[in-house]
Amino acid sequence: MCKVISIANQKGGVAKTTTAVNLGIGLARKGNKVLLVDTDPQGSLTASLGYVEPDEIPVTLANILTAVINEEEIDMAAGILHHEENIDIMPGNIELSALEVTMGNVMSRELILKDYIDMMRERYDYILIDCMPSLGMMTINALVASDSVLIPVQAAYLPVKGLQQLIKTIMMVKKRLNRKLKIQGILLTMVDYRTNYAKDISSKVHETYGSRIVVFQNTIPMSVKAAETSAEGISIYAHCPRSKVAEAYRNLTEEVLENEK
Ligand code: ADP
Ligand code: MG
Repeated sequence: MCKVISIANQKGGVAKTTTAVNLGIGLARKGNKVLLVDTDPQGSLTASLGYVEPDEIPVTLANILTAVINEEEIDMAAGILHHEENIDIMPGNIELSALEVTMGNVMSRELILKDYIDMMRERYDYILIDCMPSLGMMTINALVASDSVLIPVQAAYLPVKGLQQLIKTIMMVKKRLNRKLKIQGILLTMVDYRTNYAKDISSKVHETYGSRIVVFQNTIPMSVKAAETSAEGISIYAHCPRSKVAEAYRNLTEEVLENEK
């Protein structure tokens, strides 16, 4: 059975895309068939997997979702790119920006992405949706299309308010649009273990949310190697397999798989 996980946080720069790439490839390395979906008009996921000019890709998620809106038949292979590390990508680019506006005027506008994702479920074990930094219509679509949502939080400073707002949105989607939506967990990213500050934030997150929501045991360390991989178009496992951050993403992958049981 396919599992669909959104990687969401309306704050930018918290390692959503980095986590989508390295958890996705981590799951593929464990023998799973994985599709990564880029719903961010910035196309960062697409670019960080080596397609450095997302705006020049002829068929992207925007075209597919336009076809869904127009009730055209969709070829399941349409637009899918293949990455050397054994994952598939549905690329995204700036056209998603205009599409998000169009979506607002369409009947059942929250279900557009779900129509496409549901169709793709039979081909994959995991579908990871990389969200844009907002709680707009595209992110709502991602939450509606998902079984669960993974929330990366940067451990440098705690946007408690932002996290509360995100969780409120998730609960609203769960109540009105997607009863089976679960929170996969909160993931602390860019942790600088040398500082007490990082430890404080970690305990604060556990304190505030730990009783209701899974806070992943594994955290992702701050590392320039994580940033380098995006420029290389490969995962942290290929770029720097022995680094702490590669180990952290390997452990996170194990933890996600373990939590399924
Ligand atoms: P988001 O998708 O939430 O905007 P990104 O994954 O694009 O976040 O990460 C934001 C920036 O931080 C990128 O330049 C990325 O390469 C860098 N980055 C990601 N993870 C780490 C890390 N563990 N340590 C240091 N820099 C990181
Ligand atoms: Mg991103």
